[in-house]
Amino acid sequence: MELVWGLYVFTCGLILGSFYHVAGLRLPKKQSMLWPRSHCSSCKKTLKAIDLFPVLSYLLLKGKCRHCSQRISYTYPLVELVTAMLFLGAWLAFGWSWNFAVSLLLISMLMIIIVSDLAYMLIPDKVLLSFAAAVLLLRISVHPLDPWWSALAGGAAGFLLLFMIAVLSKGGMGGGDIKLFGVLGLFFGVQEVILVFFLSVLFGALFGMLGWLAGKVKKGVPFAFGPYIAIASMIALFFGSDMIDWYIYLSGK
Ligand SMILES: [Zn+2]
Repeated sequence: MELVWGLYVFTCGLILGSFYHVAGLRLPKKQSMLWPRSHCSSCKKTLKAIDLFPVLSYLLLKGKCRHCSQRISYTYPLVELVTAMLFLGAWLAFGWSWNFAVSLLLISMLMIIIVSDLAYMLIPDKVLLSFAAAVLLLRISVHPLDPWWSALAGGAAGFLLLFMIAVLSKGGMGGGDIKLFGVLGLFFGVQEVILVFFLSVLFGALFGMLGWLAGKVKKGVPFAFGPYIAIASMIALFFGSDMIDWYIYLSGK
């Protein structure tokens, strides 16, 4: 039975992942989620239901459009697979709990944001606001942090921390990133949102340096910070409380 539930959660992740990819590409351009129907970006032919199975269709079509053989971006199956694996991971870690529900919200928001940040260097307000409202509702009703106001304090801490960095670095941080940290604070509370901040800066600097060494990133040219924030958030989601416990334990020695 566990296996069936696991498969179910994974499949939901695949299907929603496919939806998040579309959302990430369409919402920033103020396009409708429903219209036009999914189509090939090259020949504009509408995709049939059989071409819309997450991952499987991509494999069956060998990554090419059925009509014009234009390559389909690998980000489609990638976003679908990553969403599915994170959904499954959250279920394995938290079981059927409110924590699982909050995790699904967090993963969903971050997948949409990664797509739009990589595509347009933009984090849509509409996405942030919708997820902020949803998580706030859970945090003040069925699944509060301890103490109950911790989510609100986390939201304020995340927002102010990034806002200060943006002021100090004279615009080195995008407005979308600042707002995103406010929303992450609602998810994580004060301690963990600060952990997310340190991890994102660490990953951003590390990959930025590697990219610079490889000649892919130019100094002074902005790059999408969203994906690093997303990776940091996932680490905080699965290991954050352990990491904070270690920190407190080690600093007490
Ligand atoms: Zn085509």
